[in-house]
Amino acid sequence: MSRHAIVIGAGLAGSSAADRLAERGWSISLIDRAPGPGQGASGNLAGVLRPLPSLDDNPLARLTRAGFAQTRAHCRTLAAAGLPLRWGQTGVLHLARDDRHAETQRRVVERHQPAVDELRCVDRAQASQLAGWPVANGGWWFPGGGWVDPASLCRANLAHRATAITPHYGRPVERIEHRADLWHALDAAGAVIAAAPILILANAGDARRFAPAAHLPLRAARGQVSHLPAEEDSAPAIVVCRLGYVTPTIDGRRCAGATFAVDDHDTALRSADHAENLARLDFMLPGYGRGLRAEDLDGRVGFRPLSPDRLPMIGAVADAAALAPSRPAPPLADLPRLPGLYLINGFGARGIVWSALAGELLACLIDGTPPPISDDLVSAVDPGRFLLRGRGQQRRRPANDRGARP
Ligand SMILES: Cc1cc2nc3c(=O)[nH]c(=O)nc-3n(C[C@H](O)[C@H](O)[C@H](O)COP(=O)(O)OP(=O)(O)OC[C@H]3O[C@@H](n4cnc5c(N)ncnc54)[C@H](O)[C@@H]3O)c2cc1C
Repeated sequence: MSRHAIVIGAGLAGSSAADRLAERGWSISLIDRAPGPGQGASGNLAGVLRPLPSLDDNPLARLTRAGFAQTRAHCRTLAAAGLPLRWGQTGVLHLARDDRHAETQRRVVERHQPAVDELRCVDRAQASQLAGWPVANGGWWFPGGGWVDPASLCRANLAHRATAITPHYGRPVERIEHRADLWHALDAAGAVIAAAPILILANAGDARRFAPAAHLPLRAARGQVSHLPAEEDSAPAIVVCRLGYVTPTIDGRRCAGATFAVDDHDTALRSADHAENLARLDFMLPGYGRGLRAEDLDGRVGFRPLSPDRLPMIGAVADAAALAPSRPAPPLADLPRLPGLYLINGFGARGIVWSALAGELLACLIDGTPPPISDDLVSAVDPGRFLLRGRGQQRRRPANDRGARP
């Protein structure tokens, strides 16, 4: 089989998968309906890069820890290669929501004993000093965390092994077909944009338009961020989170957010959402937004591709049509799969944190090399898991998915 893959989607998911496969000698046909990379959910000014630990160290927490480490290492590699990545390793201050949350944060650190340069608890005075602004609570301090401009990460991913990647921008894929052992991506006129033995669906919620992926429970969560005018050297110079986040100054603006509305498809900026973000800002940094009016703010709307258990979907697409509904489902590993069809999707609010790990995992699965995470985590993100639901194999939703919402 030729080492040629089509990737549909040039956001964080598609650009990471393309980069990791190109690194292994694959050639990639990358298709996006937008005129360039990073113009969907991955097009915000900046997002947060940090892990999200939990008391029980559940799969979400483990995946986020591994993802954080991988994205940070990947960003360092891209930056060292002189690629146009924009990011800041400023540290992330995750303030406690209330006293109960403060106690949980303290117990997490006590139980897991992370290295102090990874995570430590800070009291209210230390937190205020770090933020450069009086805050209401202490919290977690992640010294190695920071912010990333996601579109610049997409561009850097694609520039990393550029000769192996042929982009087709401005080309919406209308349908996909499998014939003569090749996947074909076709436009609305029926013209073939690319054909290859491997096809990777990295086109967020739109993946469901293609019949083989229509069974996947992907949804979209609208998120609006607000851009706040900011002086270059003003505080905070770090990322601050507390049921939301605010970044340091980037090009005279800060990014503050974000709203979260499932199945809300409105693409227009809304004043009410800016007001919500200003209320979040006040919860993080009391009084900081005084003088800012929601009506005057600029911002951006994006749609997070969401899976019901908040874990991503990475791996081979199962053949839903080959499963008889009345028969017991086989174990996950034995599910019938569609030859050569893969998915990297469902990143939700953690695409920056997960993308490098997800791209690496997918490349390992396609290339048949050992995955970078343990087998139970590989199963936890397998897109086939949803076909086992309702057949006595339901998974519980992770308990710690209640942190700050990026
Ligand atoms: C408001 C907001 C704040 C966020 N904050 C953070 C944060 O702080 N930290 C963090 O880690 N994550 C954050 N995220 C999440 C992160 O941005 C997403 O998880 C990530 O961008 C999803 O990447 P993706 O590649 O799956 O999707 P996208 O970036 O949307 O890429 C999908 C691509 O597919 C293309 N496409 C779709 N359909 C077709 C088709 N039929 N044919 C051709 N092309 C097609 C689209 O044009 C698009 O470019 C945030 C998201 C939002 C919206």
